[in-house]
Amino acid sequence: MTELINCVAPDDLSQYKNVMVYLEHREGHLVRGSVEMLGMASKLASKVKEKVVGVALGSDLEPVAQDATQYGCDIFLGAESKDLSDFRSVSYSRIISEYILKEKPNILLVSGTREGRDLVSRIAILTKTGVAADCVELDIQENDRLLVAWRPSFGDKTIDQILCKRHRPQTITSRPGSYPLPEKDTEHKCDVKITKVTLPKEETAHRVLMKKEKTKLDLTSKKIIVSGGLGLGGKDGFKLIGELASVLGGEVGASRPVVDLGWIPYEHQVGQTGQTVRPKLYIAAGISGKIQHIVGMKNSEIIVSINTDPSAEIVKYSDYFINSDLYKAIPRIIESVKTIVPEAGKTAQKSA
Ligand SMILES: Cc1cc2nc3c(=O)[nH]c(=O)nc-3n(C[C@H](O)[C@H](O)[C@H](O)COP(=O)(O)OP(=O)(O)OC[C@H]3O[C@@H](n4cnc5c(N)ncnc54)[C@H](O)[C@@H]3O)c2cc1C
Repeated sequence: MTELINCVAPDDLSQYKNVMVYLEHREGHLVRGSVEMLGMASKLASKVKEKVVGVALGSDLEPVAQDATQYGCDIFLGAESKDLSDFRSVSYSRIISEYILKEKPNILLVSGTREGRDLVSRIAILTKTGVAADCVELDIQENDRLLVAWRPSFGDKTIDQILCKRHRPQTITSRPGSYPLPEKDTEHKCDVKITKVTLPKEETAHRVLMKKEKTKLDLTSKKIIVSGGLGLGGKDGFKLIGELASVLGGEVGASRPVVDLGWIPYEHQVGQTGQTVRPKLYIAAGISGKIQHIVGMKNSEIIVSINTDPSAEIVKYSDYFINSDLYKAIPRIIESVKTIVPEAGKTAQKSA
């Protein structure tokens, strides 16, 4: 085992190279957040002519390495053991920290999933660096290879710029859905190094006996989202939102207050304390556009808002604004879609 040494403020920062990404995976495939991180890593690394290094742990890493290669990974470092098939924060953070101390990456990118957030705090302690959490944009300065990270603060009223000038690796997390997915490149080449490891006895004292099936709705992968807010006036308004989402082949989203009121489950919430989405089409009906909602949907390709108030904040972020009572506008949109695409009406009837 590598001895974890204090790497506070190294004198020679030039020895730290490349952009490392922690690769979280399920059933042989990278999770969306890790794919986004690979895309961002390629962008940063190519700017300073460095490499993208992926680190993954698990019991069968060949398919993960293939997936990572297609998304731009140049060097794949894998630690394989049947004891690593389930996430173990102590072992995972120790092994990744050992890779960090050996490989000396300049930057470490971790998707801010539950697993990623658990890991990154432990890694920061073990490698004695800092973490900028929940970053929404990243860039790298070409002259000194400093990572420039932006993150919202004070309830998203300000955006802070964070530089980690003395410690390495410069470590960040970003919420899944913050960046676009990179294109797959089936020709990309990667140096794959998978090592079999054995965990010390004290790290295998606990075992996973049962896994609860994941039921959470993943809004981040949806191409069309129709969201409703307090302007619906009541829980029943979501029937109309659901019908529009259905004819468009999309999913239902929501602002936070309607979730707090119990009109719709939390898994539909978009925003700072919900999910960050970037669909091709986002329709916001009866939503005012407070910043905590905006941060979760502002990167959508096309934003349409429906609101009775033309001075609502959401209008500033909208490509199209329908100044109308949503109960008048939405039935007309549904009828129009059914006329243009008769199949859409049948889908809606089936799912109603
Ligand atoms: C720490 C923190 C975290 C938060 N996280 C989130 C989050 O993740 N997501 C989130 O959404 N919010 C979040 N919020 C809450 C946020 O600040 C706002 O309170 C919330 O987004 C407002 O929801 P809304 O737009 O549905 O309601 P409102 O602000 O009340 O807006 C309702 C809108 O509906 C319009 N309207 C009314 N009737 C109609 C009608 N018949 N037809 C058309 N339009 C109509 C009104 O003109 C108005 O613009 C958070 C707040 C805090 C402090």
